[in-house]
Amino acid sequence: MAALSDLVVDLISELGSEAVRFEPLDRRLFSKDAGVTRGEVVAITFPRSAEEVAAVVRIAGTHGIPVVVRGAGTGLSGGAVPSEPAVLIVTTRMTGVEVDTDNRTAWVEPGVINLDLSRLTEPFGLHFAPDPSSQAACTIGGNVANNSGGPHCLAEGTTVSHVLAVEFVDAEGNVFIAGGPGPDPVGLDVRGVMVGSEGTLGVVTRALVKLTPNPPAVRTMLMAFDDIADAAATVSGVIAAGVVPAALEMMDRPLIRAVENFLHAGLPIDAAAVLLAEVAGHPEGVEAEAELVVTMAKRHGATEVRIARDEAEREVLWKARKSAFGAIAQIAPDYYLHDTVVPRTRLVEAVTEIYAIAKRHDLPVLNTIHAGDGNLHPKFAFDGSIPGVRERVKQAAEEVVALSIRLGGVLSGEHGIGLEKRDLMHLVFSAVDLDAQARLRDAFDRDRRFNPGTVLPAGSRCFDFGRQPPEGVWV
Ligand SMILES: Cc1cc2nc3c(=O)[nH]c(=O)nc-3n(C[C@H](O)[C@H](O)[C@H](O)COP(=O)(O)OP(=O)(O)OC[C@H]3O[C@@H](n4cnc5c(N)ncnc54)[C@H](O)[C@@H]3O)c2cc1C
Repeated sequence: MAALSDLVVDLISELGSEAVRFEPLDRRLFSKDAGVTRGEVVAITFPRSAEEVAAVVRIAGTHGIPVVVRGAGTGLSGGAVPSEPAVLIVTTRMTGVEVDTDNRTAWVEPGVINLDLSRLTEPFGLHFAPDPSSQAACTIGGNVANNSGGPHCLAEGTTVSHVLAVEFVDAEGNVFIAGGPGPDPVGLDVRGVMVGSEGTLGVVTRALVKLTPNPPAVRTMLMAFDDIADAAATVSGVIAAGVVPAALEMMDRPLIRAVENFLHAGLPIDAAAVLLAEVAGHPEGVEAEAELVVTMAKRHGATEVRIARDEAEREVLWKARKSAFGAIAQIAPDYYLHDTVVPRTRLVEAVTEIYAIAKRHDLPVLNTIHAGDGNLHPKFAFDGSIPGVRERVKQAAEEVVALSIRLGGVLSGEHGIGLEKRDLMHLVFSAVDLDAQARLRDAFDRDRRFNPGTVLPAGSRCFDFGRQPPEGVWV
């Protein structure tokens, strides 16, 4: 207890009392993200600059307590949840943005909310392309750390394609810049390593991001199908025809009904699945691509095709897609959202088997799918106060992972590994792969001061007798 008090005193003397919280209620509130895992927080800090971040890292190091970074806490894999008692660095007070319209870039501090960045750059005809469904709340720091995606990442690529440079604080409290404004910086690509590192290598204190011009023309279409297989065949057909739409999203019947029930957007509630497709670019190209998408949908038996006539209609269609998570609250108070990927050609098998898994475990399941890239998001709805239900949800989730890997897919599409999938890493990585990743992590943070216990399972280093090799051992 004395050590804890000393820690808090040191943090307050560096940051001021308004930037440090340590009361039990605060510690409880910050002990989890949007996922299901809870951890133990000893103090919460709200630094305002890279220098203050560095000071927190050094103070925590002096007291032998690890640091966990947190943006908005919308992560779903427990990435911002301490696996052992830790000091939290919350970036929400770091909200500076410097826009360079000539180069279409911006230096952005990590606490800037994703949607705020696009709103800020809208008057210049620019936006930040990665658009997670959580974009009204999640931060750029979280997007960088998780290499986040979103519906429009099918054509534009995930966050890593939009980050030119990263400023970060290392485990010793030094500030570095990796990457730069040039298209092809020389040297090892530390920027590439930082993006997607889930807070395990350093604290991102600024990112130089690309800003994407707003397209001159956009067409958004909703297509309904009586069979998921027809929707999936349309997705494959469109891409095989050489068109990569800006977005290609699928929702299944349970989800359509849940969304329609509260949004009243006129969604086709009897359809087995709907596809939401968007094409964007120059007007002539957009018209041709929209026509191809509609033709393909009709060829595969679309029962209804609705094309948004104006921006207001487009917004309604997107609101329907992005309200998917909130809509589940009508069915049950809790939900567990999964994030795995299967090859696009195996979507139908995957969804059919997910329905069977849900039935076996007596759980309602609702699906949104980033169909263009085979990224599944089944959501199991449940009431966590019912004894035994959490175990059933966990079992169902593990079966979804096993299924995805069996079909040739991967563990996670965009939500990261965090604590949630750490112990499943061996399903896709060999001991040698994990050792290589652990060596990389050790090169940045040998003493595991950042987000210890996350992403890599215990024993990832081949010599893993503990964190340090025994005296005299050569590695
Ligand atoms: C309703 C809902 C919808 C979602 N939709 C999507 C989606 O479409 N696509 C998608 O990819 N994700 C989605 N997510 C997941 C989540 O929103 C993203 O992963 C997001 O990028 C997390 O941002 P955050 O600021 O909330 O980060 P947090 O949850 O606070 O942290 C996430 C991870 O980033 C690390 N981190 C945060 N800031 C920093 C920093 N400055 N430096 C180093 N590490 C840092 C944390 O330690 C943690 O490991 C969704 C989540 C919800 C709840």
